Amino acid sequence: MDKKLIIFTDLDGTLLDRDTYSYQIAKPLLQKLKNKGIPLIFCTGKTRAENEYYQKKLKINDPFIIENGGAIFIPKNYFTFNPLISRKREKQIVLKKYYVIQLGAPYKKIRKALQKIRKESKFKIIGFGDMTAKEVARDAGVSIKMAQLAKKKTYNESFIFSESKDKEKILSEKIKQSGFQLVHGGRYYNIMGKNTNKGKAIKILTKFFQKEFKKIKTMGMGDSLNDLTMLKAVDIPVLVQKPPGIWEVKIKIKNLIKIKNIGPQGWTKAVKKYALQEI
Ligand SMILES: [Mg+2]
Repeated sequence: MDKKLIIFTDLDGTLLDRDTYSYQIAKPLLQKLKNKGIPLIFCTGKTRAENEYYQKKLKINDPFIIENGGAIFIPKNYFTFNPLISRKREKQIVLKKYYVIQLGAPYKKIRKALQKIRKESKFKIIGFGDMTAKEVARDAGVSIKMAQLAKKKTYNESFIFSESKDKEKILSEKIKQSGFQLVHGGRYYNIMGKNTNKGKAIKILTKFFQKEFKKIKTMGMGDSLNDLTMLKAVDIPVLVQKPPGIWEVKIKIKNLIKIKNIGPQGWTKAVKKYALQEI
């Protein structure tokens, strides 16, 4: 029997264009994946509200991982078993539509730590929590509606760090000392729980898929350093390029597949080749 393929994908700069957030080029493949019964799991720095927005747009009903591994959302009745039963160690929430496994530190604590660091270091730090939706919209180049969704953070804070590159190390150290970690996504710096990452969330979901389908194979697609743990946690790790056509140099994995195209162009090529066997 063939192994069932499960795809985990980053959104910003991978399935979505880094600058325009467009996914048009990838769209025709989504139906093909659906027809083949291949789950497409978003694994992103984005919030629950943003994930739900893109799931609706792309007609996807699979589980998703929010805020760099902060929580896993699993639609009820998605698996033939209750996934919460085997995960007693993690915090769990049962919502109307989902089972949720929480892995991240709460937003309030993260904000407090960031504010303390800013006060002590006098670094120029502006978090999403300091900005209005209008300001986030202008800075990220998104609509006010999308900015409102992006501001609904629960397990991490994105921020602008307007200091020289050498101060980044000091910032990272200060964040570590306060019990959190610094992660650099595509556009923003992120502060989040020290034990939170995409890979950890993927490993948990992979166990559920194994239980459901027995023989599985996992593929992961990303573009940035915050995808490293994701790419390490899958059988087929795929790295797409960032504009203007470069691979993230800090991602070094033995079996890494480097696709010679940027963002969604690379995503499309990888899915055609490794998931649909079209090329
Ligand atoms: Mg990305």
